[in-house]
Parts: sequence; C-alpha cells; structure tokens
Amino acid sequence: MKSVLGTLLAVLWLLTGCSDETTVATVTNPESEETESEVKPEWAWMEEAFEAESPCVLLDLTERNGYNEESGDYSRHVYSARYMLTVAGVPYTVTSDLEKALESDFVLFSSPILKKTFTAAETATLKAWVEAGGTLMAPALSEATNEVCELFGVSGSKYLKTRNTYTWETDHLLDKELEYMNTEEEIVVSLGNAEREESSIKTYAYTPTTGESMATFDTGETAVVRHCLGKGRTYTFGVLWRDVIQRSQLNKDFAAARATNNCFEPSADIYAFFLRSTFALTHEVSAWKFTVPGGYESLVIPTHDCDSRTAYDEMHYMSDYEASLGLSAQYMLTVHYFRQEGYLSAFYNNETIPKSRELLKKGHTVGSHSVCHFPDFDVTSRFPITIVSRDEYRPTHDPVDHKTTSGGSTWAELMLSKQIIEEDLGNRVRTFRSGHLCMNKNIPQVLAEGGYDFSTCYNAAEVLSEFPFRERIGNTWTGDHGVLQMPLHISDVMYIDPMTEDNWFEKPTVWLEVLGKLAGNYAPAILLIHPNREWKMLAEKMLVERMDRSRIGLWNLEAWGDFWLAREKMDFRYCYVADKATILIKPDDAENELETCLFALDVQEGVNVDHVILLNKEGQGTELKFREIAKGRLLATLPGVEPKERTDGIIPIRM
Ligand SMILES: [Zn+2]
Repeated sequence: MKSVLGTLLAVLWLLTGCSDETTVATVTNPESEETESEVKPEWAWMEEAFEAESPCVLLDLTERNGYNEESGDYSRHVYSARYMLTVAGVPYTVTSDLEKALESDFVLFSSPILKKTFTAAETATLKAWVEAGGTLMAPALSEATNEVCELFGVSGSKYLKTRNTYTWETDHLLDKELEYMNTEEEIVVSLGNAEREESSIKTYAYTPTTGESMATFDTGETAVVRHCLGKGRTYTFGVLWRDVIQRSQLNKDFAAARATNNCFEPSADIYAFFLRSTFALTHEVSAWKFTVPGGYESLVIPTHDCDSRTAYDEMHYMSDYEASLGLSAQYMLTVHYFRQEGYLSAFYNNETIPKSRELLKKGHTVGSHSVCHFPDFDVTSRFPITIVSRDEYRPTHDPVDHKTTSGGSTWAELMLSKQIIEEDLGNRVRTFRSGHLCMNKNIPQVLAEGGYDFSTCYNAAEVLSEFPFRERIGNTWTGDHGVLQMPLHISDVMYIDPMTEDNWFEKPTVWLEVLGKLAGNYAPAILLIHPNREWKMLAEKMLVERMDRSRIGLWNLEAWGDFWLAREKMDFRYCYVADKATILIKPDDAENELETCLFALDVQEGVNVDHVILLNKEGQGTELKFREIAKGRLLATLPGVEPKERTDGIIPIRM
C-alpha cells in the first residue's frame, strides 16, 4: 500500500491528474476561476465511475411471519438487526421484498425462519442466489422446512431455554468471520447465567449435515453453522436477534453478564462484528463507518460524579490536571441543596456553586447526577413523575431501617436538578447519570421529554455491550426511542478489592487491561472516577501516562455522544475503482459534520489502494488520509483529523 499523501499533494492530484504544468498554476493560485474550470472534468470521472457496491440488505420478515404484536417500526427483531448493522457500520438498506433483497449479494434476515416464512419456490430462488455467490446471515431456523434446512446445511433445530453459553470452535478462530473473537470473553459468548434457576433465552441447536459447526453450546450441541454452497455461503445462529441485542439493552438478559464493572463483556456486540467481518470476507473492498472519532482506535472518556461534600472540595485536583492536558472532561453534579437528617448534608450551596462554575471556566462540561442520589431510585413506584419546585421538594430517606424514600420524584431528580444547575452555572445540562446507576421505568420518559440528550446510567457489562444505544420509553420492548444511553466501562468503584489511598496505583493496570480489549473492538472506555480525593487524580494521571496516546484519545463524553448520533444518521455508499486504485465514498447527506467522515476500509489481499476520496453531492472530492490500523484495514480520515502524538517523551506501554 502506498503511504499516506500530504493534504497538498492530495489536492494537486485531484485537480490535475498529476500534470506538472497545471500543478504549478494550482499551487500559486488555488482560488482562481481558471482552476475551477480545470477542476470539474477531473471530478467528473469519479462521478462517472461511481457504481455503488451493493449494500447489505436487511430482509424484514415481520409480515411473512405474521407477528402482529411486533409489527411496525418497533419490531424487536428488526430493531435488533438494525442495531447490529449500525454498530457494524456497513452500508445497508431495509426491505420486506425478497426479490428486491436478492438484487444485493449480502442479505441479513431479521427474524427466525418458520414453516410459513418462505414458499418452496422462494426457497429454491434463495438457493440459486446463494449458489451464484450470495451471502445469507440468519437467526434461528426455529420451525424451518426441510428445504430451508438444506439451504443452511442442517437437518433441523432443537429448542431449549437452558443453554447459557456458546464457544467458537478452535478450528475456526483464524477464519475471517471470527477475526474480532480474540479474547476469552469473545470466544465464549454468554447467553444466560448457569447459577440461576430460571431459564435462559430461547436457543436452537442444530445438527449439521453439509454445513460446518462454527460454535458449540455448553450442552455440546451446535450453535452456529456455516454452509458453503456453490460460490456463496449461508450462516445461521441458534438465537433470536431480539434476545441477544434488544433484551440486553433493556437489561432483561437473565443476568448473562459475567462480571459487574471494570470488566469486558461483549456478548451482545459479537453479532455486529461477525456481520462486519463476513461482509469484508465477501467483498474485495469493504467500507464501514468507523466507531471512534479523531483518528484514534479507542478513547478514554473521563466522567466524574460529584456526589459528596469532599468531591466539591477536592475536584479541583482533577479538573486542573485535565485542563492542563487540554481535556474537556464531564462532571456530574449532585445538587443536594437541603439537609436530610441521617442521610445527606446540604452540600450544594453558596460555597460549592462557585467551585462548580470553575469547572466550566476550565473547559469541562457539566451534567446532572440527581438531587438526592437515592439508593432505591430504581424502585419506580417510589419515584412518580411529580412536578415540584425547589422549595417544595423535600423527600425523606430512611437509610437505616427500611432504606426507603418517601416523597421522591423522578421528575425532580432529573429535571429540578437540571434547572438548578442551568440557573446557577449558566450552561445547558445535556447529560444525566443516576446515583448508584439506578434505572427506573420513568427515567427514559423524563429524560426524553425534558430536553436531555444523553444518559449514562449503566455499567456496560450489565447490558453486554460496549456501544451506545437508544433508551426505550418505559424501558419496554415497544417503547418509543429515548435519549442516547452511553454505558460506562471502567471506574473507581471496585467491589472486590476497593480502591484506597494505599493501593490506588495498582488500579490503572486493571483499567488498561479492559481498555486494551475495548480498543481491539474500536470501542471507547467511559471512565468514572469520583473526584473526592487527590490520589484519584493521580490514578487518572497514571492511566493517561501509560496508555498509548498515538492510538487512544482523550475525549469528552458529550462530544462522543454527538459523534455517535451523527454516525447513526449518516448513510453512505462506496465503490472501488480498480484501474485508478481508488476507493470512492459518497455520504448521502452532504451536510454531515466533518468528524463523522471516518471510514475503515477492509481490503483483501492483492487489492491496491492509492487514494480514498470522499465525494459530496456536487460530485466534488476531498482526498482522505489513510493509514493501516490492522492487517488489511485502513482508517481513512479527513486531513487534520489525526491522533495527537505525545510530545513529553514518555514511551507508552503498547497494549
Ligand atoms: Zn454517585
């Protein structure tokens, strides 16, 4: 692969097609009308040559399967498949028309295959399409016909609700489809919890015939089957997408998380990775929306919950250190403005409000960490949506006997706190985190209606995912989409061996280990550290100094949320022009924020890439810079979007 071109050279190439004479003219007078007239013909070839690579097509089987209760936009199967595609980042379209779907070469089924899903003629059409080179990825064949089973290389499926894991087979770990499965947490995928007596999610085990088993359930039965048929291939997973994706996001996942916090739990993410890798396997060049901004491979996103008097007194250590790095961190204020006998003092007051204003002056962002930080905030019935004023709101909490709150309000904890901060600090409060990471059924509604943009109320492990997702109103399957939930990954809360003044310097190692695994999936690490001790700042400093800052960026939480929302919105198409060794990328919406224009390009061996061009609606191109971040994987960014290399001479530990 050719090395990265400088911006200037890139522009020259675009303008001139490498003619020396014009080059000079362009350099000396790039704005001139003369240049403009020369420019257009050069861009024209790109427009002409642009023949979009066929996207992944999500075939919506809802209607065929006749699931009335799951029809419409909020179908849990379709939502889950779409979420997989969002994380995977490959271009995709959705249709319920089989014929239309088969115009593409890569199809993902939304829902399980039942006897009525396809007619015999349709199954024959599908088979011919696969034989001609199509790739098919499907969830469970729950009641499939013999013909469908034959298409997937199995003899049938066996339903059970007590399988708790599946494991990728060692023989397949070097296969392209499994390239992301390189940690123990990815090689063994959690579906439930063997220690619980209740059953787990629905699973379907297969008996392969002409297909090969790629993964095995804890029962020894086959969980995932690959079937190579003619020039194409099919894959079937013995699970339902809604159970492995949306169920986790609602935290109704039968306690499948293998640890609580400061750990790596990607059990819901591996489906998106499998899809992305399989798409790359079947296309000589595969472009996907990269999951990390700034040209980095991962991020550390510091967030600080100020939920005690000491936090307000000591937080300047953290905020000063971060400001010295040029880092805008996220501070979450508990605005406890009145005294509660036996529970909390009135630590949000005339002394701490000016200290909070200082945070903004130092360039940090400030969100809400509730009014009262109640430990029973997850009991919805104790926290109705009651609108009350600052003077009226005086809930009581009995911390000793019943540990219960009376007179609490979800509205007040979220909205009164927001209003108080905005009034006192003059900022716009966009982000909420509950005390003790409690989630109740009223929270998503109040956040969505109250003008919040972001919520960060889960440990990522709990929801089995490393990436943000939309909350659902009422935390129900069919609730409307709420604000973006951004689960946190690492924190100073350590249950087994708590972080203390005497051992804090051992803890960054724990964080770095998790960060290394997240970086392997191009996922960020949202870090929670309470800013209530000076040595906690030192722990953060140790993490920052030991991480590889040429690959891992320091980022602001709300900026990360904005990136994810913009990424979610952006559609694009791409193509590879072999004779020009050029990849052309065309976002559908030219108004996108520049930072969203980060693309990863998985390039098969023997494919030359000299240029990556972003084409706007007018057909004008911008040459992207690119570098290889893994074997056969290029990260293409706009000029200027690149990791800020270290200048302090400290050599980071390579993870
Ligand atoms: Zn807290």
